[in-house]
Amino acid sequence: MKEYWSRRIRDAVPYVPGEQPKGRTFIKLNTNENPYPPSPKVVEAVKSAAGEGLRLYPDPECAGLRAAAAKLHGVTPEQVFPGNGSDEVLAFCFQAFFDPERPILFADITYTFYAVYTDYFGLKAWQIPLDEDFSLPVERFCKAENCGGVVIANPNAPTGRSVDLEDIRRVLEEHRDVVVLVDEAYVDFGGVSADTLLKEYDNLVVVRTLSKSRALAGLRVGYALGSPNLISGLCCVRDSINSYTVDRLAQAGAVAALEDGPYFEEMRERVIRTRERTEERLRAMGFAVLESKANFLFVSHPKRTGKALLDGLREQGILVRWFDRPRIGNYLRISVGTDDEMDALCAALKALTEG
Ligand code: PMP
Repeated sequence: MKEYWSRRIRDAVPYVPGEQPKGRTFIKLNTNENPYPPSPKVVEAVKSAAGEGLRLYPDPECAGLRAAAAKLHGVTPEQVFPGNGSDEVLAFCFQAFFDPERPILFADITYTFYAVYTDYFGLKAWQIPLDEDFSLPVERFCKAENCGGVVIANPNAPTGRSVDLEDIRRVLEEHRDVVVLVDEAYVDFGGVSADTLLKEYDNLVVVRTLSKSRALAGLRVGYALGSPNLISGLCCVRDSINSYTVDRLAQAGAVAALEDGPYFEEMRERVIRTRERTEERLRAMGFAVLESKANFLFVSHPKRTGKALLDGLREQGILVRWFDRPRIGNYLRISVGTDDEMDALCAALKALTEG
């Protein structure tokens, strides 16, 4: 069957993304999208970019986008590398900074793509189990000798737990000879960014996305922050594959999103309030709910399996995420939706867990 496939992909195990349903309308709480629309200024910017100019290639340097992100994070544009969603930025980081000789350190459990990339790019993974309460075993990360790089999702996925800045600093101190990559896809919902450490550590890369707190999953924009030297490494990978990964519409929309601070603040506050409200209600219903600093909750119920709840919710038109993996098989990851959506979720879970 696979005789025409290259060796690289014959044994590849690709990432399986959460379902994006077509047809039937679901309450969609399975892929951590923002329940609110992007800023109206984004829509305006994308519309005005959607004209005659589309016959031209986009700016490969993404100058406007780099400037907007640089301003936001207090760095120079030379310290920003935009890409087609943070997944692409992460994939470029794995290629630019990691070698096969020494294993790449990341948690077990964390964002599944890290293991997919290590496999696909012929690297080795060194996965350290999360502590009993799902917090990051910082001490063990610091003591791990001779690793070829470190990757930390902060807050972590799918648990939502976050790590203090001081702990990130300790990891950076202990692993000064390799790149430490901090994936901050969810940091705007209550975590603390490591962007302030960029001035001190030239081995730090912070990866961000506009898919979550800026409500732009459909536009596909993310970026890395790092020293100009590391950013040049990323440009080298990108320009060897495709210089134009962020299209004209995405560049225009992303700039508008990053510049509309007031709208961003209002929406993120809303998501956090709904998360806290939902957390309380689920606890009152007997669920164990991990403290979350993300736009999702990681929950389990003492009397129902994760799979039973997943299927029960689906029947009622609600999609959530369940991972068929040891240790977390009884958990659900539930994205924070609107208040109405969370009302529907709570009502459905109540019915599924009573009796
Ligand atoms: N990092 C983490 C931890 C995530 O959960 C996700 C979303 N699935 C991403 C990165 C990728 O997000 P995007 O490609 O939409 O920027």
